[in-house]
Amino acid sequence: MAEAQYEAVIGLEVHCQLSTATKAFSPEPAAYGAEPNTNVDPISLGHPGTLPVLNERVVEYAVRMGLATHSRIARRSVFARKHYFYPDLPKGYQISQFETPICEGGFIEIEGEDGAPGRKIRLTRIHMEEDAGKSIHDQDPYGTLLDNNRCGVPLIEIVSEPDIRTPGEAARYVQRIRQIVRYLGICDGNMEQGSLRCDANVSVRRSGETALGTKTEVKNMNSFRHIERALAYEIRRQIDLVARGGTVTQETRLWDADRMETRPMRSKEEAHDYRYFPDPDLVPVVVTEAWLDAIRATLPEMPEARRRRYVEALGLPPYDAALLTEERGLADYFEATVANLAERTGRAASEVAKAVSNVIMTDVLRVLKDEGLDVDAFPVTPDRLAALIHLRLDDRLGSSAATELFEVMLRVDGPPETLARERNLLQVSDAGALAPIVDEVLARHPKQLAQYLGGKEGLIGFFIGQVMRAFPGSPDPRLVRKLLIERIEKMR
Ligand code: ADP
Ligand code: MG
Repeated sequence: MAEAQYEAVIGLEVHCQLSTATKAFSPEPAAYGAEPNTNVDPISLGHPGTLPVLNERVVEYAVRMGLATHSRIARRSVFARKHYFYPDLPKGYQISQFETPICEGGFIEIEGEDGAPGRKIRLTRIHMEEDAGKSIHDQDPYGTLLDNNRCGVPLIEIVSEPDIRTPGEAARYVQRIRQIVRYLGICDGNMEQGSLRCDANVSVRRSGETALGTKTEVKNMNSFRHIERALAYEIRRQIDLVARGGTVTQETRLWDADRMETRPMRSKEEAHDYRYFPDPDLVPVVVTEAWLDAIRATLPEMPEARRRRYVEALGLPPYDAALLTEERGLADYFEATVANLAERTGRAASEVAKAVSNVIMTDVLRVLKDEGLDVDAFPVTPDRLAALIHLRLDDRLGSSAATELFEVMLRVDGPPETLARERNLLQVSDAGALAPIVDEVLARHPKQLAQYLGGKEGLIGFFIGQVMRAFPGSPDPRLVRKLLIERIEKMR
């Protein structure tokens, strides 16, 4: 099909579950994973006579996201009721924001298709709302089960302008949102558990056209890979349809990960009229200048700024900087190690940063991945890692001994130098201790010595090996070579 003549237009609606201790308007725990229907109370179930009270943290978290995405923050916004009937919505309406979202007009930067940074995806709005319960269709053969624990759990919904053009960009955009909310500490970003959910709106048009085509909305993608696959499928389906002279029907489609296809769920004709109106039980949300300043003051350095600083101030290659700043915890670990090593060695941070980066990008990341560990639970703390790198920089540890010591440090606590000494891993650079062994080795191999003196100087490797083996430790091979040559030259 003539795909090159068409382009896709994509806009995403991303829901992030806020990691507050309690729900948006009531005091039960908001945590994931409790026994079904245990985190419920009359307010989240919408019993008559109950009144919601807004959790201040929800506003704070939404504002954090707004500030991190360069959005305008509404000084006054209201909650609305969005009415629809569904078994997992016991109140019969969802509390959401409609005409006045808390944030508007921000943007998120992603890498473009050619790897070039700085593609800006504009945000239409970010609003606060509550989640509905969960209908479980696949556990009971006779019907649908309901778990209302999720009723009233706070969400932010981030709506993008239709600025995304490819499935890859869509996946990178959601990845970037995940990174930002995790940096901000407002959402754990777990897609499998549904803390981060994405609905994708997609249409196609002839390249060069500016009007928007009819869109479909694709739901039910719970990983980055599925976002890419579902969009690729849906774009191809629409292009095939349009190229054959057909028209796209505006509808909601479900991604079926097993069959790797999207299929219709409901059409526009069945679309709900939500009968939005301002919730009379809730007062308007007012964000004062003082509160805004206080929230702004607690924002962490964001990944983009951190990455730039690693390149410009620490002299790291862009690849290292991107990898190290992917997760806030890893970047913190890196910086703590650099600071510690700089202090130990009396050198500038920029002089030791690359050595630290090398060890983290190889050994540390490998172990974290293999063991499925979070960097906060990593047994080698920044000061211990710095001590290990320090031994290496001072040539007191060879490269294979460094690897061995690292493995030991994963299992055994204690200062790296002590661990290394106990295991004879330190390079011996004490000529006095080595001299008797050098003499002994030369005395034991008169034949090889005569050959060496006769011009077969390649035999130096043989003597070095013998000394290294005979010494109960890890001598510095360069020192052994120097001592051997000095000794032998005296014999000529
Ligand atoms: P709806 O009322 O159907 O929810 P909205 O106008 O609120 O539609 O937009 C929802 C999302 O769909 C936004 O992310 C927006 O960028 C995107 N969108 C709107 N129109 C199109 C289109 N024609 N093609 C692709 N995405 C679109
Ligand atoms: Mg929508």
